[in-house]
This record gives sequence, C-alpha cells and structure tokens, in this order.
Amino acid sequence: MEDQVLAATIDQPLIIASFQRERFYRQEAHRYQRLAQRSNQIYVLSAPETDFKNSSEYYEKVAFEPNDALSQEWHLVVVAENYATCLVCRESLGSITKNQQLPEIPSLDMDTARRFEGIWTSERGVSLKAAQLLLDRILVYRPDLKPKVEEAKQRFGIGKANSRLEAGNIYACDIDTDPFVQRLVTYLQASQYKLHKAYRSLAAQARKERLINSISTAIRRSLDPGEVLQVAAQELGQHLGACRCLIYRAQATDAQALIEHQFLSSGVASVQGQTWELAHNPLFQEIVKHREGVCVSDTLTDYRVTNSAPLSLIVKKFGLRSWLMEPVLSQGRLLGIVELHYCHHRPHEWQAGELDLVKAIATQIGAALIQAESFANLEELNQQLEALDRTRSNLIAITGHELRTPLSTIQVCLESLASEPDMPQELRQVMLNTALADSERMRKLVQDFLTLSNLESGRVEWHPESLTLQECIDLALSRLRSRTNQEKPPKINTQISQTLPLVKADGDWLVEVLAKLIDNACKFTPPQGEITIQATYNNPHMVEVTVADTGRGIEPNRLEIVFDRFYQEEGALRRTAGGTGLGLAICRQIVNGWGGEIWAESDGKDQGSQFHFTVPVVQGS
Ligand code: ADP
Repeated sequence: MEDQVLAATIDQPLIIASFQRERFYRQEAHRYQRLAQRSNQIYVLSAPETDFKNSSEYYEKVAFEPNDALSQEWHLVVVAENYATCLVCRESLGSITKNQQLPEIPSLDMDTARRFEGIWTSERGVSLKAAQLLLDRILVYRPDLKPKVEEAKQRFGIGKANSRLEAGNIYACDIDTDPFVQRLVTYLQASQYKLHKAYRSLAAQARKERLINSISTAIRRSLDPGEVLQVAAQELGQHLGACRCLIYRAQATDAQALIEHQFLSSGVASVQGQTWELAHNPLFQEIVKHREGVCVSDTLTDYRVTNSAPLSLIVKKFGLRSWLMEPVLSQGRLLGIVELHYCHHRPHEWQAGELDLVKAIATQIGAALIQAESFANLEELNQQLEALDRTRSNLIAITGHELRTPLSTIQVCLESLASEPDMPQELRQVMLNTALADSERMRKLVQDFLTLSNLESGRVEWHPESLTLQECIDLALSRLRSRTNQEKPPKINTQISQTLPLVKADGDWLVEVLAKLIDNACKFTPPQGEITIQATYNNPHMVEVTVADTGRGIEPNRLEIVFDRFYQEEGALRRTAGGTGLGLAICRQIVNGWGGEIWAESDGKDQGSQFHFTVPVVQGS
C-alpha cells in the first residue's frame, strides 16, 4: 500500500501506521521518510523501546504506552480522495479458525505460537472508520495535533454523520485494488518465509549452542584429562552420528600417537590401543602446517589418501569412507586431535554447521586440557608446599631436640669447668671431650640442613670430571676413618674390578654419597659384621655401585621411605645411632643430579641391607 503511494498514483493521502513495537517500525522507517515527501498527513504510532518518542520531524510520531491495547495490534490505513484501504490486525490469543482466511503472520520475535487475525479491505467506509479510531487515539497522546487531525478529518470526511459510508457509497473505490491485494499477499508471504528462515537458522544456532554447552559442561566437570577426552569423544561422536570418534593427545613433533579414547557406533571395529602413524600421515602434517582441520569427504577419491600408503592402509583396515581430523589447540600449540570416521557405503554428507561444531568442541577440549594440566601442576605444587611445610615442622622438632640437647650438655660442661677450678685433670678432659663431641654433632646437623637445602633448591654447582671409582672409595674410607668414633667398625671389603670404566661425576659429591652409605652401613652393623663395596658394569651408560652390610636390615615396607627427609627407624627424637636422618635424602638428591638412581634392598630385619646407586661412565673409556 505504501508502495502505491510512493509510485505517486495517490496524491497527498492520509497514512496512519501503527506498529506494535519500535523495532518493527525501525525496519520500515526509511519508507516513511520517503512517504513524507508525498504527504504531510502521515502518522506513525509505536510503543517506544529505545528513542522513539512524540515528534513532528518528517512525519508525526506518536509514542503510545507499552500497555496500550495498540501494542497488541498492527494497523495500516491509507486514505486519499478516491482511494482508501486499510489493514487492521490484532494479535490473537486463541487459535484462529480456518474459515477466517486471514493472514497468519509469525511474530518477529520468533514465537511461532503467536498468530494475528485481522482484515485487509479497500472498503472506504471501513478505512474511514479505522482512520477515525486511530486519529482519536493519536489525539490522546498528541493533543497538540488537534488542528492537523481536524484538517485530515475535514478533507477526507472522516467521522461525518452523513459521510459517504452512510450514503451507502461504501464501495467508493474507482481504482482496481486487485494488484494491491496481490502485492500485499506476496509481501506477507515473503515476510513469512523470511521469518521462518530466520527462525530456522536461529533454532539451529540455539541447538548448536545447547550441544556445545552440554559437552563443555560434561568435560569441564572433570579435572582428569583422561575422563575429559573420553566424555568429549562419546558426546561428540553420538551427537554427530559418527561411526567412530577418536580423541588423542598429539604434539606437532610426535611421530606416533596412541589411541586411548574412542566412541564407537554399533558394529564398528575398535581402534582403541592402536598406534596411529603421525610423522608419515599427510593429513596430520597438513594440520601441523596450517593449524586447521582437514576434511576428507570421500577417501576413495581424495588424492591425499590415495597417494599415501599408510593412509590407504588405515582406510582399508578400518573401513573409512569420510574422515575429519580437527586439531585441539591452545594458544596455537597442538595438544591433540579429534577424528570423526564415517564408515558407510556412501560418503558422509556434512550438514551445515557440523564442521563449526567440531571446531567449537575441539576448542573446549583444548581449554579443558589446559585447565586439567594447570590443576595437576597446582596439585604438584601443593604437594611440594606440603612437603616443605613438613620439612619446616620437622626442622623445628629436630632443632628443638638436636640442637638443644648438645647445647645444654656443652653449657653444663663449660659451666662446671668455669666454676670448679679445682676439678681433677681427668674429669676436666672428659668434660672438654663431651663438649667438643656435642658441638661436632651440632655442626654436622647444621651442615646437612644446608647441604640438602642447597641441593633441593638447585643452588649447587656441579663440576663433572672423569674419575676412577676406586679412588673415590679410598677417599670416602679415609674420611670416615678420620671421623668415626666407633670403637671397632665392622670389616670393610672393597671389590672393584680394574677394568671398570671411568665414571663421570662431580668427585666431591660422589665421595659424599659413598661416605654416607658406608657410614650408615657401619652404624647399623655390629663390629663382627661385614661391609662390602662392589661395582658392576651391566649397562653401557652406567656403573652400578653397591654398599652391602650384614647389619640390622630394613623392613620391606621401609625400603623407599628411608630416603625421606628426617626418616629414622627409631623416630627422630629417640635416636641412638647418631645422624640426622638427612643422609639418604642428600644421597638421592646428589645421585639424581647426575642422572642416576639410588635404591635400597634388604631381606628384612637382621638380614643386612644393600644400597645401590648408578653413576654415568665416561663414554669410550
Ligand atoms: P641417619 O643420619 O639417621 O643415618 P639417613 O638418611 O642416612 O639418616 O638414614 C635414614 C634411616 O635409614 C636411618 O636412620 C636408618 O633407620 C635407615 N638406614 C640407613 N642405612 C641403613 C643400613 N645400612 N641398615 C639399616 N638401616 C639403615
């Protein structure tokens, strides 16, 4: 109808358009601006949503209250000298009856349950009545327009008692309205079609978002990366109707990947536990290069598959017809791959949005993996903090006991020496020796604390050199002999072959390890027992050194925890054999520092113990 006016076939008409809401007016606003050049009697009504308000700029705008009945209606009235038409619609709350033959227009906010019922007519009388009702309504909101409205009423005979309506001249149309009817119907149909299309695409989008949300919720619920990948494979495979959905971890430089997580539809062969070739997989290499997914619509015709022997083999073995590989990335770093396999007789027809969906899920998986990784790091950090805390508490306990006890002894000895000048010479000597021994214990404890703390925090400089093991053992033994105050240490046998290769280690630290192990062996073996130091060379890179004794042995369940800081079988505070409980922890730090291992073996109580550690050999020696 507006087009007819724009086509200039109707002169200076009265046009009243009432929109339910401002957003619907916005879509048509440009037309009314153009119509304003054809007539000064244009009224546009709407419930405001943003800046729609009463104004008279190009045409008259009338902002009605959102709860006005007009917000449930939709009207367009065009009245000219010898032409009148109107479309009067109301949103129907109930269902519409078939024989009403009224246009059905889905509302623009996509609620398809809503219907409009109304009339479209070119009957002049009806149009004039509609114009009258609307003009009266306009005056409620815009009383300032009274003169203008009056002028329109005068001009077109709106609201007159002896109007042409009452004269029976209700069909006062002397132009053919059919084209307008056709036009209106086409317009409505086109709008309806557009709306349905928009609705379908919105609904598809909403479905996709729901799916992504459900999958991301499922995968984010867990912080276990294995579970995350399994849930994602299951959900994605199921939703996309894939025959197989695989998710595996893979980095750009990996040559192979192990398939650990899969979804299978029934009757499809499993690939779980298979090793997937990556280095010679052109699809994987393409992903690494472009950081984009690859889609093989038909494996029978895609040259990337047909030209590659490994891919052709996989396709044949596992019946793949269509194949999608999507990278799981995090900040450009490849973390893994999502694969979808379709194993039907015909190639899979990808639906619009499916590929985007896989991409979106892959992004979610990437985020979940990074989250799980961070959590694992956090947990490790937590454990380290707990260990640190334990160390601190132990340190306090040990310090309390270890430092205070000798300190009190030293204090008593020195006080006695000072206050008893007449003390016999022998007793003086005993006092001095006791004070000296206890201060040596304190020195050792502090020394071990510092050594372990330096090793653990990486504040140690390593000076690896080529050494003969025998030399290091000799040094360790001589150091022990000079220090030990054991009355009669057990016999020590050294059995080192002359042909043993040179070892590569920091000499001071190697002697330290040997000294600590031999010292322990002496401490926990009675004088009549025996200690043996041996070395074997079974591994081309490492020599294995063993310090074995025939002493009190270690219970099988203690073999590992003896390496814990402050572990002592008697408990730190009831110790009789001396030592700090830090010796083996220090040894482990040192041995790990050169890439070796240290462990204990024993058949149990009173069965002796063997401590083994490995040290790298000088290659070619
Ligand atoms: P300590 O200074 O107490 O010797 P270590 O860390 O060297 O501290 O040893 C920790 C604990 O491991 C010892 O207190 C002892 O209970 C046990 N242990 C170490 N070496 C031997 C061994 N050769 N025989 C039996 N027990 C041992």
